[in-house]
Amino acid sequence: MNQPASADGALIELAEIHKVYQMGASEVNALDGVSLQIKRGEYVAIMGPSGSGKSTLMNIIGCLDTPTSGSYKLRGTEIRDRDDDELARIRNQEVGFIFQTFNLLARADALHNVELPLVYAGRPKRARRERAREMLGLVGLAERMHHRPNELSGGQRQRVAIARALVNEPSIVLADEPTGNLDSKTGLEIMALLDQVHQGGNTVILVTHEEDVAANAERIVRLRDGKIESDQATRRAPRGAPASAVPSGSSPPSGS
Ligand code: ADP
Ligand code: MG
Repeated sequence: MNQPASADGALIELAEIHKVYQMGASEVNALDGVSLQIKRGEYVAIMGPSGSGKSTLMNIIGCLDTPTSGSYKLRGTEIRDRDDDELARIRNQEVGFIFQTFNLLARADALHNVELPLVYAGRPKRARRERAREMLGLVGLAERMHHRPNELSGGQRQRVAIARALVNEPSIVLADEPTGNLDSKTGLEIMALLDQVHQGGNTVILVTHEEDVAANAERIVRLRDGKIESDQATRRAPRGAPASAVPSGSSPPSGS
């Protein structure tokens, strides 16, 4: 958590990332030369049609998957050169994942679900209990601590998942369609919570299909066929921010 980012301040630096899946005799170019830099504290939405490579990109950023070729530097460290133990540590301590389907342990209560990353991080029991309680309080679930996922609503499950994603104070929060399984009112509540997460200083990367959900971010990166089609600042971008938002590819900039 206390290594410096690389010289130009980018937390995430992807250069010419390719991901090829072998499907029998044919190959799928899930990512086809993606170059992208994300700074600490940015809030970026990734959009694009189904199959355009959004989840593949998130999995690579979160070190759940590795590219076929290209360079990925996280805080200036080349991920390709890390061994499995180091990657496991990075996943546990640097990255918080929030999924569309929540991915909670069904047999564990909310408290235990939130505590799990701290178990893997080797934190002592009392400290991790206390920390998990604190996180559940922050997402408004202090009263639901001892409920299992099937005793919670969809929105509450996603709150548990957010508490779990944040419990290790990761440098990046990755949310892959976090409101995809929620009704629109609950979705708005979850987006408000992600806003707080960002305002607290976190780097947030969000995949969504919905323009109004993406409008919460400061920047929208659009993928098509494994390539970046455009990369633009939204109205929520900090004032006076340099245009990290250079449209690329063929789509015209909208409105600015
Ligand atoms: P998105 O999240 O934008 O819907 P994905 O990143 O999941 O897209 O998928 C991008 C492309 O890669 C799709 O064509 C998908 O079928 C393919 N793909 C993704 N994961 C795998 C896999 N494990 N094996 C083979 N093909 C995959
Ligand atoms: Mg996906």
